[in-house]
Amino acid sequence: AFDTLVIGGGPAGAAAAIYSARKGINTGVAAERFGGQVSDTLGIENFISVSHTEGPKLVAALEQHVNDYEVDVMNLQRAVAFKAAEVEGGLHEVTFASGATLKSKTLVLATGARWREMNVPGEQEYRNKGVAYCPHCDGPLFKGKRVAVIGGGNSGVEAAIDLAGIVAHVTLVEFMGEMRADAVLQKKLKSLSNVDVILNAQTTEVTGDGSRVNGLTYKDRNTDEVTTLPLEGIFVQIGLVPNTEWLKESPIEMSPRGEIITDAHGMTSVPGVFAAGDVTTVPYKQIVIAMGEGAKASLGAFDYLIRN
Ligand code: FAD
Repeated sequence: AFDTLVIGGGPAGAAAAIYSARKGINTGVAAERFGGQVSDTLGIENFISVSHTEGPKLVAALEQHVNDYEVDVMNLQRAVAFKAAEVEGGLHEVTFASGATLKSKTLVLATGARWREMNVPGEQEYRNKGVAYCPHCDGPLFKGKRVAVIGGGNSGVEAAIDLAGIVAHVTLVEFMGEMRADAVLQKKLKSLSNVDVILNAQTTEVTGDGSRVNGLTYKDRNTDEVTTLPLEGIFVQIGLVPNTEWLKESPIEMSPRGEIITDAHGMTSVPGVFAAGDVTTVPYKQIVIAMGEGAKASLGAFDYLIRN
């Protein structure tokens, strides 16, 4: 059995693993995809002390740093169930899609989050046929075409700026009366000649010709007027969903949004089970925050171990 088993290999999981291993305890990391959301990120300019880096480069550095220590790294392992220790100080169990089960005295849950879906007609039908969620992965597929970005938060505006350099035209569709993105991003967006912004617009349908997306229908929330934009691609950027479905049946306390609730030491409502990063209620989902939270949860787990 492990002393500390980390579930998830994003920035939070990597930091947790390094901090545990440096205590000389038996540490494992099991992740569906090592690197997490960072693998889907292009430019990173807010990772403090590094002026500019790129997702894949940071993932490689994370992997290298974890491999500097005696950490049992199990990549491509998706956790599907959790069983809490029957007695305090006992072994927790995590079962994986592969059928394997791992036991550990403490756990750090760092399974992150993923993009939220619109849940409108046509979205599923045209997924990967014009409906996309990762501009860095799929942007080049729309070279010279017209696209919409749904959502005016940081990720939506970043996506629109990114796509404007590749595609013919971008329409950013925001539900509220104003965008929530950082002012600097909005300023950049407004400087681009091939971007339009539509506010107060509720997306109602993704239309297509049976094989590909050909339009996006939205309703003006002030006038109820319905408009269909002819376009070839739709990038959905309306927020993140925590990856906690596999914990639904567990006693771990979560917020109404399904985020894991932790205390000041990163411990969940189940003794010996810690959590960190985008999967938790911690505000501001960022790499540097996820790493700090991962380190904190891991130190919390170590403190728990020496007391039990
Ligand atoms: P994640 O990165 O989501 O990692 C979760 C890990 O858990 C992954 O390894 C995943 O495979 C694994 N996992 C999930 N479910 C399971 C399961 N059931 N079993 C096993 N493993 C599982 N932040 C910044 O600070 N700066 C930026 O410039 C920036 N740009 C971004 C751009 C994009 C396109 C995206 C998507 C995010 C960006 N972010 C940025 C946010 C940042 O990437 C996240 O805040 C950060 O990655 C969160 O780290 P995490 O370790 O908590 O989760």
